Amino acid sequence: MELISLVIPVFFEEENIKACYSRVKTALQSLPFQKQEIIFVDDGSKDRTLPLLKEIVNIDSSVKIISFSRNFGHQTAVTAGLKRCRGDVVVILDADLQDPPEFISTMLTKWREGYKVVYAVRTKRKENIAKRLAYAGFYRILQRLSDIPIPLDTGDFCLMDKVVVQHLNSMPERNRFVRGLRSWVGFRQVGIPYERDRRRAGEVKYTLPKLIKLAIDGLFSFSQFPLRLTTLFGLIVSSLSFVGGLIAVVLKYTDIYTPRGWTSTLVIVFFLGGIQLIAIGIIGEYVGRIYDEVKQRPQYVVEEEINF
Ligand code: UDP
Ligand code: MG
Repeated sequence: MELISLVIPVFFEEENIKACYSRVKTALQSLPFQKQEIIFVDDGSKDRTLPLLKEIVNIDSSVKIISFSRNFGHQTAVTAGLKRCRGDVVVILDADLQDPPEFISTMLTKWREGYKVVYAVRTKRKENIAKRLAYAGFYRILQRLSDIPIPLDTGDFCLMDKVVVQHLNSMPERNRFVRGLRSWVGFRQVGIPYERDRRRAGEVKYTLPKLIKLAIDGLFSFSQFPLRLTTLFGLIVSSLSFVGGLIAVVLKYTDIYTPRGWTSTLVIVFFLGGIQLIAIGIIGEYVGRIYDEVKQRPQYVVEEEINF
């Protein structure tokens, strides 16, 4: 076997860099590859992450660095790493050692059996209950609504054949949900269960707003269900109002009841106003995405590339 590439996005990981590097390096040494490259993508860290990485490059020529001009986000960092890697086999993992690098050898056996994508499925998450529930809920909703099957409880930790990476790289879309795109590519894919460790050191870098963006990207990039939902709402409400209108006309001509009607009018106006705003918001999500795509901006700006 020829070359294995690792893509590791890093953002403010000064406490983890050295430990991550040495554990990854040891794990790689036990694998039957002639060559290896470890690509760290520095997603605009302002701490000592980049200087530490440069120290590592000086002693190990298999390490490469892509450094962004600012923080572009984890999915974009992964995308940049995938663009530049040249391995026959490519692995994506986190720098905080939540994804055990020793697991790569297990993934590799599946790849040898002919699977083009081997992704890790989290059986246990050592995180707080609110976060675990949110994740579990999100993946289940996504699986229901998505136009293609996206496996439950899987993140970006995976091993891919270079064929899959080439297809991922050929996709120009900007708001990337990498684990979804990976499923979209197809070929033979398999998940293997693992226990996700705790973050080795430091704070979580995926803050709540970033997680929400990820969830929205996943949902809206892989499903048109929200749009259909607005049509459905529209149909239900207009049938109801048709019936309501008929009743009103009948009442007027039969003289049974002459309504004062202030409250009911207000309720209807509020209700319809709410539904219309939701519908506009949902359409706005898609329009915003179209706008992002037509602007044709590059997905990220590289400040420095080292050792390529
Ligand atoms: N990360 C990144 N850019 C960001 C946020 C996170 O490159 O804007 C990296 C981070 O350094 C780590 C990985 O993405 O290597 C996962 O982040 P984190 O551990 O904070 O999130 P988790 O997935 O564990 O919730
Ligand atoms: Mg983590």
